[in-house]
Amino acid sequence: MPTSRRLVVLDPPPATPASPRDDDDDHFHDQCGVFGVFGHAEAANMTYLGLHALQHRGQESAGIVTSDGEQVYAHRAMGLVQDAFTQDQLARLPGRIAIGHVRYSTAGGSHIKNAQPIAVDYARGSLAVCHNGNLTNAEELRTELEERGSIFVSDTDTEVFVHLVAVSKEVAVEDRIADALSRVRGAYSLLFLTEGAIVAVRDPMGIRPLCLGAFRGDGDAHVVASEPCAFDLIGAEYVRDVEPGEMVIIDRNGLRSVRPIGRAPQRTCVFEYVYFARPDSKLDGRSVYDVRRALGRALAKEHPVDADVVVPVPDSAVPAAIGYAAESRLPFDMGLIRSGYVGRTFIEPQQSIRHFGVRLKLSAVEPVLRGKRVVIVEDSIVRGTTSRKVVKMVRDAGAREVHMRISSPPTQWPCYYGIDTPTRGELIASSHSVDEIARYVTADSLRYLSRDGMLDAAGGQKSMCHACFSGEYAIPFTPTHKRQLRLMGV
Ligand code: SF4
Repeated sequence: MPTSRRLVVLDPPPATPASPRDDDDDHFHDQCGVFGVFGHAEAANMTYLGLHALQHRGQESAGIVTSDGEQVYAHRAMGLVQDAFTQDQLARLPGRIAIGHVRYSTAGGSHIKNAQPIAVDYARGSLAVCHNGNLTNAEELRTELEERGSIFVSDTDTEVFVHLVAVSKEVAVEDRIADALSRVRGAYSLLFLTEGAIVAVRDPMGIRPLCLGAFRGDGDAHVVASEPCAFDLIGAEYVRDVEPGEMVIIDRNGLRSVRPIGRAPQRTCVFEYVYFARPDSKLDGRSVYDVRRALGRALAKEHPVDADVVVPVPDSAVPAAIGYAAESRLPFDMGLIRSGYVGRTFIEPQQSIRHFGVRLKLSAVEPVLRGKRVVIVEDSIVRGTTSRKVVKMVRDAGAREVHMRISSPPTQWPCYYGIDTPTRGELIASSHSVDEIARYVTADSLRYLSRDGMLDAAGGQKSMCHACFSGEYAIPFTPTHKRQLRLMGV
């Protein structure tokens, strides 16, 4: 291949140290968001905006790879989308095809070498890939590939795909990708980019979301994203979800759907509905907002409480609190306000201020809380540290009683399908009863929604993954994975 046709990497950034985690955000963290455009004159700009809309899925790094039909261009950087790209850098990503990625590290640490999309030159041209999910047999495949001579430059599962495609004996790139997919196990929503195509794939169980859209009035311009909220911002419209096990190829001949990896019983992540996805998104045909409100209604039916006001922990628990208040015929009010500040501070006053981190993000509205029996609705409790601070904040504002209601069951198990979770020992519900957790967070009462209540509200008793609540993992562990779990104390 002529040198001029090889991958162009803009402004290779210097090695960046890992950024510190936010200790006052006691949630599981979504892993990544993917976005792709085919056939649009402003593919890089559209992808930039699409990634903006997916920023809640990952804030550690962002990247865009484009193709002008002959050459592939890449730029990746640490930080939020708005910090990762300048106008000049976007202008230097030409072409009508683009894929992009926002990342919160799961497999692989927080470092520029793990930012995506990964883009490489190999014997048949240039190839880029970005991934939302985790592979359960990545270690085995990596070892096998390294023994065959592959050299890995990142710590991510995603790079395994690149090497598997590169060593495939198939000819057409979609066949090489299908060949690679036949080797992997786990959760993956993937976007591949070649000089002339985008290939979108969702794993056989559809664990992570992926959906298709189109630009109105332009039948040739297609978009693919983790969530359809990314379409609204750019004026594209939602067409449908990519089905579990489906591979969608978009090139100059249009859009084709093939099923090279088969389909297993669907197990979409129920936590996408509970917390991860944006409430204005629709996943597999269900409105996330409607599901969250239904979770709140179910919670009120299962665990009513004599109280004066229902207060959400903003922003994610707002729809569930609205549902709880409506079902229990109690007033809903914003007794906690989230600061408009987005991000973190690395400066703490030298004089210690108690609960400083939480106070940066949340503040109590005293007139709503003083003298009241308050129901605080939250979507989940991971370690319990933030809930404890929230209860204290509400009491300090004058609440007479504080009752916590959680719109999902206790999270007792780690996730291995692309979500950043602590080890089992760090999950408070894995070693403490509900009453013990109530005492720890200092609530007058604490109740969780049941598993059946959650699955009924989400509309998928049989089609949802609920392993972090139940320990019932849909994908069997490999021997290497089991060894890793033992080492992690799981
Ligand atoms: S284990 Fe939990 S967070 Fe992970 S995919 Fe399943 S439901 Fe989602």
